[in-house]
Amino acid sequence: MTGSLPDVVVVGAGPVGLACAIECGRSGLRTRGIDKGALVNSLVGYPTGMEFFSTPDLLEIGGHPFPTRHYKPLREEALDYYRKVATAEHLDLSLYERVERLEGSEGAFDVVTDRGRHRTGRVIVATGFFDHPMALGVPGEDLPKVSHYFKEAFPYTGQDVVIVGAKNSAAKAALQCYRHGARVTMLVRSPALSEKIKYWIRPDLENRIAEGSISAVFGATVTSIADDTVTFRTVDGERTIPNDWVLAMTGYRPDYGFLSAMGIGVGDDDARTPVHDPASFESDRAGVFLAGTVCGGLATSRWFIENGRHHAKMIAAGIAARVRG
Ligand SMILES: Cc1cc2nc3c(=O)[nH]c(=O)nc-3n(C[C@H](O)[C@H](O)[C@H](O)COP(=O)(O)OP(=O)(O)OC[C@H]3O[C@@H](n4cnc5c(N)ncnc54)[C@H](O)[C@@H]3O)c2cc1C
Repeated sequence: MTGSLPDVVVVGAGPVGLACAIECGRSGLRTRGIDKGALVNSLVGYPTGMEFFSTPDLLEIGGHPFPTRHYKPLREEALDYYRKVATAEHLDLSLYERVERLEGSEGAFDVVTDRGRHRTGRVIVATGFFDHPMALGVPGEDLPKVSHYFKEAFPYTGQDVVIVGAKNSAAKAALQCYRHGARVTMLVRSPALSEKIKYWIRPDLENRIAEGSISAVFGATVTSIADDTVTFRTVDGERTIPNDWVLAMTGYRPDYGFLSAMGIGVGDDDARTPVHDPASFESDRAGVFLAGTVCGGLATSRWFIENGRHHAKMIAAGIAARVRG
């Protein structure tokens, strides 16, 4: 690899990884960020025109102001913001390079990627969870009409769309598909919509369900998907409905295979929390730190940008103190 050896490699150039790279740089550490995809790759994958839940001040990193046209930023404004911050901070970033595993030990790690090796003293893992959907585990899930990502509603005009799930992403996708002329059926495993649906989205969805514009079946478990149908089970038995597209908004999880290849342990709690010290964010592999949403394991709503961005200063201060000895 070219350039001087970094003191720190940050794996993941999402909002939290970028915050870590900025704070490490400000602490006098030579820092390199590596991402397997684009800059803020998860945000690139969010729905077109998506409005963030957070106000812009809560998404800011490195103290850079985030000006937006409205009260809540759009995905496109956030993409612009993080790109401009990364440029203004002259971050050393290698994009479209996938980290595969970690060799060596603190002070002399080799971060092994699909392009080569990066020798470094410490590593920060800020890899989020957005690339690994929670599978339904049913026959037909691999059909091309099934997706775990909702990008935009227009392709679903005039189509029979099943939306699996009942949290914010499912709620937003259902409303948008309905408003683009799709016939929407929500299949919800629980007996009601999730309490986690934001207070400004919930009444809209409840009213569309109550008036029959969107169908919702509660206590429904998908059992199989075929080219033209979806079959699900309720207490009343099994039903099959006509279907063109399935949006399985069933959530995401960290890449546990990757964490294992990095030598990071996983707790035996329900959330399968990656092992780390909550004060220093150091994992059970000395010199390897966790930052951002990956820290929560399966509890993916525990950390988000608003609170995860604050990991950066703590981790940078800890590493800088250790490097200075
Ligand atoms: C639809 C949606 C809306 C949301 N809205 C909000 C909101 O309004 N406010 C809020 O605070 N949070 C929100 N969140 C949560 C939060 O935005 C995201 O979870 C956020 O992206 C987390 O930032 P992160 O840096 O921890 O992880 P990510 O942004 O997911 O970044 C992880 C990065 O690591 C990279 N990576 C993964 N594995 C590897 C590897 N092996 N090698 C190299 N790179 C790798 C990925 O490509 C990715 O770029 C939302 C989440 C979703 C899904």
